[in-house]
Amino acid sequence: MSSPSPSQPIRRVWIDDGCISCNLCEDLAPEVFEVPVGADCQVRPGYRERLADYAVEAQVVEAAESCPTEVIRLERD
Ligand code: SF4
Repeated sequence: MSSPSPSQPIRRVWIDDGCISCNLCEDLAPEVFEVPVGADCQVRPGYRERLADYAVEAQVVEAAESCPTEVIRLERD
């Protein structure tokens, strides 16, 4: 199975089990990730529209690559 090309747009973002609520993803991509006090990270409602902004998409990729527990999942077309 080949991996999706990074040039394809991100269609879906989700968080697998194992988040340690470190806040890094919200610091890097605050328009997409939210880490409520005392809870695991969440993907903000309406995030898909924000992914159309190339800068936001780049922040999401950086967050996924930087997550210490590697639980941020991205799905491309
Ligand atoms: S960077 Fe990863 S571990 Fe940290 S809050 Fe975000 S999803 Fe959770």
